[in-house]
Amino acid sequence: MRKVALVTGGSRGIGKATVVEFAKKGYDVVINYLVSDDRASALQKEVQEQYGVRALAVKADVSDEKAVKQMVETVIDEFGHIDCLVNNAGIAIDTLFEDKTVIHFRKTLDINLIGTFLVSKYVGKYMIEHKTGSIINVSSTNGIDTFYPMSLDYDASKAGMISLTHNLALQYAPYIRVNSIAPGWVLTDMNQELDEEFIEKECSHILANRFADPSEIARVIVFLSSDDASYINNEVIRVDGGWK
Ligand code: NAP
Repeated sequence: MRKVALVTGGSRGIGKATVVEFAKKGYDVVINYLVSDDRASALQKEVQEQYGVRALAVKADVSDEKAVKQMVETVIDEFGHIDCLVNNAGIAIDTLFEDKTVIHFRKTLDINLIGTFLVSKYVGKYMIEHKTGSIINVSSTNGIDTFYPMSLDYDASKAGMISLTHNLALQYAPYIRVNSIAPGWVLTDMNQELDEEFIEKECSHILANRFADPSEIARVIVFLSSDDASYINNEVIRVDGGWK
């Protein structure tokens, strides 16, 4: 029986790369997304044709409890089980500190942090029944270090995801492993507005001297999800090219 991986925010960026990486390794994949219908169905088709696995695209807002419950029920109806969950869906709202509002703050926490809690809660219920599973929360180095007050809402959500990782690991032990990864800068839509000068300055702090390709993050996620990482639990792993 093939393992099933559910990747939230699987339509683009790190999530898409993770879906592809799971499919390459022979997992059936569920691609969650919010608005990118075309990208999600193209990816579903791509991985089915290229890797011969089953794929399902499910539109659901991870911050909406009803939608999350419905998504998880759909996946269980279709596949019967979920072995790996990657809480990857996330947003970053770029505004100056002075312009940051409660609306920005709440939206960021709702999707990045509460969304992670909700999907983990509904998927965790099935994993516990089967006494097996792995959850990876895609946090950020922003959840550990603090560099820019303009991203204080994002940073708080990512620090919260690390705290959530520890509590979920305690709650679900010994059956479900719960880990977090903290990527540094990654080449995705999330960073498409950054100017050259800023990118150069950031690269001067990275030993690799470049931003990551999404596949470099995805490979770590899939390793951590797999039985090869069976003794790694309650951990936060930086994947940032070496910050100096
Ligand atoms: P991205 O390219 O902007 O993609 C975001 C993904 O999240 C899309 O698939 C989007 O779906 C989905 N999404 C957004 N809101 C959602 C919601 N409410 N419900 C369900 N899906 C939702 O982002 P990325 O750069 O790949 O980032 C992925 C994760 O890595 C995020 O959690 C981010 O914080 C984290 N991260 C990113 C970086 C970086 O430098 N890029 C660094 C560290 C951590 P649609 O396509 O339908 O909009």
